[in-house]
Amino acid sequence: MPTDDFVASSHILHRSFTERPSKVIRGDGISLVLEDGRKVIDATCGPSVSCLGHSQPEIVEAITNHLKNDIAYVYSGSPYTNAAIEELADMLLAGKPGGLSKAIFVNSGSEATDAALKLAVQYWHEKGQPQRTHFIARKQSYHGNTIGALCVSGHESRRAFYQDFMSPNVSFVDPCYAYRMKHKGETDEEFVQRLARQFENEILRVGPDRVAGFIAEPVSGTTLGCLPAVPGYFKAIRDICDRYGVLLILDEIICGMGKTGTMHAWEQEGIRGPDIQTIGKALGGGFVPLSGVLLHQKIFHALSAGSGGLAHGHTFQAHPLACAAAISAQRIIKRDNLVERCKQMGYKLEDLLRAEIGPMPLIGDIRGRGLFWAIEFVLDKELKTPFPAQAKFCDQIVKNSLRLGLNILGNLGHTGTYQVDHVLVCPPYTVTEEELS
Ligand code: PLP
Repeated sequence: MPTDDFVASSHILHRSFTERPSKVIRGDGISLVLEDGRKVIDATCGPSVSCLGHSQPEIVEAITNHLKNDIAYVYSGSPYTNAAIEELADMLLAGKPGGLSKAIFVNSGSEATDAALKLAVQYWHEKGQPQRTHFIARKQSYHGNTIGALCVSGHESRRAFYQDFMSPNVSFVDPCYAYRMKHKGETDEEFVQRLARQFENEILRVGPDRVAGFIAEPVSGTTLGCLPAVPGYFKAIRDICDRYGVLLILDEIICGMGKTGTMHAWEQEGIRGPDIQTIGKALGGGFVPLSGVLLHQKIFHALSAGSGGLAHGHTFQAHPLACAAAISAQRIIKRDNLVERCKQMGYKLEDLLRAEIGPMPLIGDIRGRGLFWAIEFVLDKELKTPFPAQAKFCDQIVKNSLRLGLNILGNLGHTGTYQVDHVLVCPPYTVTEEELS
């Protein structure tokens, strides 16, 4: 129970009802400066957001200039747009990566997931197949906290209170979690075939003419800890989606925008790209909230052939100030070749993690890509025995790290079949070797 003193100390409903969060007073590069004068290295950019650090002066200037010279707010639902909104979309979709040709911008990743699902449903309506409303997602996945996004998230503890709202039109298949799910002696290829068969069987069980889309993260972030798929997995998934006309929705809200060493994480999977993609977090470096949905040209063609326009929108969608911040962030990333830097510094981070932390007891697996890594903890390395969920092992790691001046993000809550005690290590794209050490 919180004490009276604790209750009186803030009118904000914080996540913990018993522990007071530390007040951050400013940012300083990779670090957060706390009210009590302590400086904490933010090794995860919050939840993988502040990709250019906490005090990028060029972005601050871009935001200020936008406010002075442009307009703070326009309702971009209708009938207006703004130069910043248009320019950001142009930047992201120049050259039509993977055939992606249109963008909409929203505020949070969860809104982006909701929008992606709704656009997929509208697509099937316009294609004359309105019965396609079923989505297949993966167990132990996370695509956001709104009711719509939770429906396709296999994150058990986050769904627990809301079971009555969870749609029966969503089913789940296994994630590509080789560390625990690959059978002894099974090759990557056999593992992929097994998962692909399960996915295809699920489409057949539901009925191919009922399945609207499949949603997955190319590199799973918070539930399974920076988990890339084994080679060939997404190729097999893409092929099956194509065979049955199922839309492939890739959630790059946490793994995208350069941190894995390519602008889009799916570029490393040897596929032509998704039909719908969500982006967020690092898109604007965290200066103003912004997320987005990118659509393949085939989706746009179908939507625009319909008569009704876009059946989706928010008051604060495509906020010009957020777009101005993101333009500045994306310009810096391009100018300073930071996606390549993520790749190169990622090799150094991997070496450090494997050499310095890998040999320690309780370290089960170290995995990731670019500057997007996680460490999974286990009770027994050989047997891969997880900690009991009630031990909240990660919470202890996170708290002790904070005491030592290091901010890292641990898994939040029980996500499903496997207890995956992990912490993320995803520093800003500008991190130095010294800071990595
Ligand atoms: N999708 C993924 C993969 C995420 O990691 C998250 C947040 O962590 C979301 C969606 C939801 O984003 P937001 O918290 O901005 O709503």
